[in-house]
Amino acid sequence: MKPRKPDHSVQTSFEEAGIEAPAGPTPEPLESVRRRRLSLDEYVSGVRSGDRAVLGRAITLVESNAHRDQDLAQRMLIALLPFTGNAHRVGITGVPGVGKSTFIEALGSNLTAAGRRVAVLAVDPTSGRTGGSILGDKTRMTKLSRDPNAFVRPSPASGSLGGVARKTRETMLVCEAAGFDVVLVETVGVGQSETTVAEMVDFFLVLMLANAGDELQGIKRGIMELADMIAINKAEAEHAVMARHARREYMAALRLMRGSHPAWKPPVLAVSGLHNQGLDVLWQKIEEHRRLFDKNGVLSAQRREQMRRWMWSMVDDRLLRAVRKHPAVAAQAAKLEAAVLDGKLTATLGAQAILDAFGLDSDR
Ligand code: GDP
Repeated sequence: MKPRKPDHSVQTSFEEAGIEAPAGPTPEPLESVRRRRLSLDEYVSGVRSGDRAVLGRAITLVESNAHRDQDLAQRMLIALLPFTGNAHRVGITGVPGVGKSTFIEALGSNLTAAGRRVAVLAVDPTSGRTGGSILGDKTRMTKLSRDPNAFVRPSPASGSLGGVARKTRETMLVCEAAGFDVVLVETVGVGQSETTVAEMVDFFLVLMLANAGDELQGIKRGIMELADMIAINKAEAEHAVMARHARREYMAALRLMRGSHPAWKPPVLAVSGLHNQGLDVLWQKIEEHRRLFDKNGVLSAQRREQMRRWMWSMVDDRLLRAVRKHPAVAAQAAKLEAAVLDGKLTATLGAQAILDAFGLDSDR
């Protein structure tokens, strides 16, 4: 067992807060440190020392849409970058009700019991929209949230998947710099969120249920091709037979698919998050994948390629937002959309009109 870390929610000193006490005869009261803006150095040293209060604030900074926060956040990330990259990044997806939070609670607790430090992040593009989010509307992972060696952060609220993804990626880096050596990124299959999460992790796990009958009906083929592993969840006791059947079906289906990487055959396991069954074997497989991909160089190549694609996807995202927000585009958009919908204008001419309005020569 590792020594327990102090509970930073009850910090009483600068030392505990990981913040250097200001010079001078009267140190600044901690309450005021909590309220005022922290300096770059305070963020960096607080995160590096694993101070949870500063970590939380650093993530809030990363999530902020205010220009001056973003500028400070980027400077903080540059300072933290040398301390990132050491975590095992695992994405987890599955439909609502498949048992993701129960599973993550059990897996995360197993890992912290084995001495690992686990951060749990989420990508939920519905978060923050009216009507509540898919992942964030209930109290989730209460045990892990209280575990001093775990850190659970709900999905950043934002209207666009690109925005949520940037924040989660950067939060992942902050957590790595804070010493978390496993980062679990949870998502729910809304729009492109699964692909987005698969693009930011080393290993992508898909949780499935063993429904009676034709398991593969209605399951997106795309998601099976992203999977580094499929785990049939809720496979305990009375469901074991059905799970075995489903497992065979998934294995057969995977054999006909392209798979996530030629060097890896995605295993299909039967597990129970609720009863903590099969999770040891599951994690061993994830580590096996890690060892293999470390050795053959795929892991670092994959991460570099993810960064390159991420850079361009941010350019795409920002450009698209700039185009849509441009007054001349906004003024015509509804009319052009209607004309395309009515079949009075081709999509190509519609796109050209939008780009012309934006001031871009669309032929180039
Ligand atoms: P999520 O929406 O994917 O996060 O799913 P939850 O973790 O909230 O679980 C949804 C429901 O399934 C809850 O009632 C859980 O108690 C139940 N559940 C989760 N894991 C298991 C499991 O391994 N076996 C069984 N029988 N029920 C489970």
